[in-house]
Amino acid sequence: MIDFTFSEEQEILRDSVKRFAEKEIAPRVPEMIEKRRIPREIMDGLRKQNLLGMTVPEKYGGMGADAVTTGIAVEEIAKVDPTASIPVMFLVDNAWSYLLSKYATDGFKEKVLPKIAAGKILTGIASTEPNFGSDIGSMTTVADKKGSDYIINGEKAYISLVKDIKEIGGGYVTVAKTDKSKSTSGVSLFYVPHSDEYMELTPLEEMGREGSTWGSIRFNDCPVPEENLIGTLNGGFKIVHLGFEFARALIAVISAASATTALGNGMEYMKERKAFGQPIGKFQGLQFQLADHVARMEAARTLGYKALWMYDMEQKEGRFSRFEVSNEVAIAKLLSTVWGFDAINDALQWHGAYGYTKYNPQELALRAIRSFQLAEGSREVMKTIIAREALGKEFMKS
Ligand SMILES: Cc1cc2nc3c(=O)[nH]c(=O)nc-3n(C[C@H](O)[C@H](O)[C@H](O)COP(=O)(O)OP(=O)(O)OC[C@H]3O[C@@H](n4cnc5c(N)ncnc54)[C@H](O)[C@@H]3O)c2cc1C
Repeated sequence: MIDFTFSEEQEILRDSVKRFAEKEIAPRVPEMIEKRRIPREIMDGLRKQNLLGMTVPEKYGGMGADAVTTGIAVEEIAKVDPTASIPVMFLVDNAWSYLLSKYATDGFKEKVLPKIAAGKILTGIASTEPNFGSDIGSMTTVADKKGSDYIINGEKAYISLVKDIKEIGGGYVTVAKTDKSKSTSGVSLFYVPHSDEYMELTPLEEMGREGSTWGSIRFNDCPVPEENLIGTLNGGFKIVHLGFEFARALIAVISAASATTALGNGMEYMKERKAFGQPIGKFQGLQFQLADHVARMEAARTLGYKALWMYDMEQKEGRFSRFEVSNEVAIAKLLSTVWGFDAINDALQWHGAYGYTKYNPQELALRAIRSFQLAEGSREVMKTIIAREALGKEFMKS
């Protein structure tokens, strides 16, 4: 049986996030652009609604939200924030906190999860390096055992939330080599809290995501207690994908929401703007573009929720295999980010020259959504996952 409806609790959550987003987030987008930060009052509001660390289990003070429920909250935020900065902060924090809730040691969970659930600290992901991104097995950041600590050395690059985590507090799910003689089977995950003493941050300017912070982190003999190992030693490669997939499926929903807002703006403009004696919305050339995008966004949103639902079903009931979930997530992320970019680009075009002016919503959204064809796994990596499932693993060897 297929049922595409949400539960009553989920609809209540959607209404409440929608009200918060429209009242508190939408009017403050210009301030976010000016300061290139998420305003403190918005962070406080997200905390009050338990939307930070919402995937942390109730036992540790969180909401224990599943992936679909997390998607509902971020969808409403994405509709009003064309910079995607708040959705990005939300998705990174929630997806990677979920991984901690599932695989961290009991001692770590007792100590850290209540703070994450209360929104007192944020969680990021530090995987990419200056010379390696998609190719995790080739990374060079190392974690060497010394007494009861691991000592981390290396550099991570293009990391989201660096300033937020430094200022608010928190840490990163950090991917490091614990067996240098091996590729992906020599990789482990650690929770590394921000440290002014052992970490050097270099901020990076980015193309979009005006309210986000981004940069690289150099780890200099950074000690991490054994208790911060996530999952098993050298078993990081398998479980890191659980975080990536959660994040990728959320990105699919965010991209569809952002593009749907841009299409809505475009439609309003088409009804008002006149050319050659009639509203431009009467030109069939534009109507057909619009119809294609509306149809694609309906498909992209549905695929995003399907991916989140399959993720939940695998996690809760073991109903799908890891590969089936990876494939569905890759399909959703690929189509939503590529189609979403095209939809926003056409919505910008319908606005004529005004569309090309700095800081109109379509221009902001176009630059923001472009990041999703790279972040949390590139467009091409999504295609390799889909092709692997379609053709079989033996076709993936070079
Ligand atoms: C806005 C933004 C935010 C980010 N935030 C984070 C973060 O918080 N934490 C983090 O760890 N990383 C983050 N990243 C990094 C992101 O995860 C990487 O950019 C991504 O994984 C690709 O890695 P790379 O940039 O090193 O490209 P590479 O892996 O070097 O790839 C270069 C190009 O080759 C393509 N390519 C690679 N392998 C294949 C293949 N097998 N077949 C075909 N094409 C291939 C890629 O798709 C890409 O186009 C962020 C990136 C962006 C843009």
